[in-house]
Amino acid sequence: MNWKGKTVFLTGASSGIGEGLALALARRGASLGLAARRREMLDDLKQRCEEAGGEAMAFSCDVTDPDALEKAARDFRDEFGHIDVAIANAGIGGNNEETRSFDPVAVKKVIDINLLGAVNMVHAVLPSMKERKSGHLVAISSLAGFRGLPKSAAYCASKAGMTAFFESVRLDVMHDGIDVTIIQPGFIKTPLTSGRKHKMPYLMELDDAIPLFIQAIEKKKRFSAFPWQLATIVRAARCMPGWMYDRFAGKRRYRE
Ligand code: NDP
Repeated sequence: MNWKGKTVFLTGASSGIGEGLALALARRGASLGLAARRREMLDDLKQRCEEAGGEAMAFSCDVTDPDALEKAARDFRDEFGHIDVAIANAGIGGNNEETRSFDPVAVKKVIDINLLGAVNMVHAVLPSMKERKSGHLVAISSLAGFRGLPKSAAYCASKAGMTAFFESVRLDVMHDGIDVTIIQPGFIKTPLTSGRKHKMPYLMELDDAIPLFIQAIEKKKRFSAFPWQLATIVRAARCMPGWMYDRFAGKRRYRE
């Protein structure tokens, strides 16, 4: 696929997967709208994207603020004309005592950012994509959205919700020239997974994972789950009866 001149609006661009994707797409010549809260990191990334051969605009905004996100998407369109690909990537792990004890405020924060933040992004970009009868929505969901995991109720709920939301959106927009790709990665080394004490199975280096994200987007896959080893285990776990799954998953502690 030729990314030269393609316009990509990306949330959660300031670190980890978002930063890696931005740089990889800039190297391919894409024009990027970089959204996240930390302005300094975005400004620095914008410069690196431009040095890498792309064009970039930075938007300091919170995905939980629909008006701010809508304005960012509008400003990006005003500069570059339209949005070809919009990637809902902003997210938090919410890996703390409060979410583990199901504190409603802490759980709401995870859902607000991971799920409703993605909804806000879709709302900000979809009308103009529909008008043009062209566009591509990409959700960075997770293998954690397949089935409940211990110590991860908030995160799993947010990612299961995200997967279901984008699959439903696909059914609503597939006749409008709009594609929807749902990416479900396993564990990737980023600030989100750093500092965990327990072993994360099939943990991937960010540099090894980024080409898999790009391949899924270029091929306009409906779903892309990786690494294949963990994706296979998770798919098999989805078929297990409840009693068997409880035994299999109940003792795992990789989110601590
Ligand atoms: P990072 O913590 O490195 O990046 C998260 C990004 O989200 C940052 O750019 C952060 O920017 C942004 N963000 C967080 N909250 C908000 C907010 N309220 N408004 C705007 N931006 C926000 O984590 P990853 O790169 O690992 O995660 C990216 C996505 O990938 C997440 O959705 C995550 O759930 C998903 N994922 C990650 C996996 C992994 O193993 N790493 C596995 C599966 C999925 P800022 O703080 O500047 O706002």
